[in-house]
Amino acid sequence: MDAPYMPAVKTANYIGGSWVSEPETMPAVNPATGETIANLPKSGRETAARAVAAAKAAAAGWAATPVFERAAVCVAIASAIDAQRDALARLLSLEQGKILAEATGEVGKAADGFRLAAELVKQMGGQTLPAEDPTKLVMTIRQPRGVYGVITPWNFPVNIPVEYLAPGIATGNTIVWVPAPSTSLVACALMEVIEKAGLPAGVINLLIGEGATAGDAVVVHPDVAAIGFTGSAATGRRIAERGAGKPLLLELGGNGPVVVFEDADIDAAAAAAAGGAFFNAGQVCAATGRVLAHHSVVDRLCEKLVEHAARQVPGDPFHQGTTMGPLNNAKVAAKVKEHIDDAVAAGARILHGGKPRPDLGSGLFFEPTVIRDVTRDMKINREETFGPVVPVLAFKDENEALDLALDSEYGLSVGVFTRDVTRGVKVAKAIPAGIVNINAGSTWWEIHLPFGGGSGTKSGIGRLGGIHTMEAMTELKMVTITL
Ligand code: NAD
Repeated sequence: MDAPYMPAVKTANYIGGSWVSEPETMPAVNPATGETIANLPKSGRETAARAVAAAKAAAAGWAATPVFERAAVCVAIASAIDAQRDALARLLSLEQGKILAEATGEVGKAADGFRLAAELVKQMGGQTLPAEDPTKLVMTIRQPRGVYGVITPWNFPVNIPVEYLAPGIATGNTIVWVPAPSTSLVACALMEVIEKAGLPAGVINLLIGEGATAGDAVVVHPDVAAIGFTGSAATGRRIAERGAGKPLLLELGGNGPVVVFEDADIDAAAAAAAGGAFFNAGQVCAATGRVLAHHSVVDRLCEKLVEHAARQVPGDPFHQGTTMGPLNNAKVAAKVKEHIDDAVAAGARILHGGKPRPDLGSGLFFEPTVIRDVTRDMKINREETFGPVVPVLAFKDENEALDLALDSEYGLSVGVFTRDVTRGVKVAKAIPAGIVNINAGSTWWEIHLPFGGGSGTKSGIGRLGGIHTMEAMTELKMVTITL
């Protein structure tokens, strides 16, 4: 057997501008084969404290750096990411499992994210405000919050970190970034690209380790002024408790319905629902969590969904023609299987797929799956499955559609298919999600647009994207002058 491919990446923490190793290590694993591809630091709390100290030491200097200089650094980083796009994408596929075409797209978006932050920060302003007192001139200014803790997941391990890193440094914060353990090798590679682009020491510090130790140490550290977190609802809740009192940006889970009314373009609805379920093997917070279909169109829709599923080619993420790689880790694979088994035991019918495919490599490959006759209480309807599965529920009228859509703890992103725009808008207003796409799937979003969970749901706090992140990552300060 060939020796496993070991990428030439620095596998260390990056603290205060130096690559620092850690005595304890953990493996980086290729999910398609199960092979160890590198050994990564498994940082403890002391190392976390050093990373925070480095970010704190750099904070005043970076905040005082003229905004046009900070923007220029972001542009240099964007160009450096573009120049390393192929290498980063290959590593991203290797460690995360997504197909190379998706990985290449993700890295491209990361470069766009730094360019966008560079543009927007030059336009960010405060206001002057009227006052009752005629002797007062009142204005607001935006300032960096200080040291930001940024904790990110494994499903988009390049793009999601950049959603915080780019606006965070553009607005003058310094950062301690804790990536997900199962995608920390590509985090090292991204950090190396950022370093070489000319980022001053201490502005971004990479801390690799487990969330419950390294991540928690950052969350609770008194010198960490604010937290940006994308991940599961359960971890988000814990971070909100542990980081109580700090400004929080929390982007959490979803279980977005795609609602298909009887007057919908069924081809378009099926394509969007399937695309939103099979893209990144369904490991997307805004994925098609469930399809709610009017009973008169459910058969036709299911046929089309099965056609889409049958066209999927699971396999080696590097092979041309593969459309879906493995799931990223054993925990998510176990959950997908558990949700399908629970649904089948309670009477749901598998129309396509439904099983793991260990013959494709590791035990993390799963068939693209369409499952119908799903009902309200099944786990596959109630919880976030995070795998390549389209669960279909039928409804009899608009009231039942809304009732099913609203009967969820999540409220991230929703798709609604109808030719009746008035009905689409009515549904959009009624659902407490952060995003409702009428005649598009739940995954549609662009990086300058507000993305986030609806209040009263488990999907998070705040909005990520473009100017919205920049506002969240800065302090609004009122300054008055007595004339
Ligand atoms: P996770 O919550 O298990 O882990 C996310 C990150 O938190 C990892 O880096 C992990 O190491 C860290 N972490 C774990 N425990 C911690 C603790 N006690 N303190 C501090 N940090 C800790 O989530 P995951 O499995 O990596 O990611 C999948 C989840 O992320 C899904 O629920 C998905 O919906 C969600 N997600 C949301 C969005 C969004 O924008 N809303 C985007 C992508 C993913």
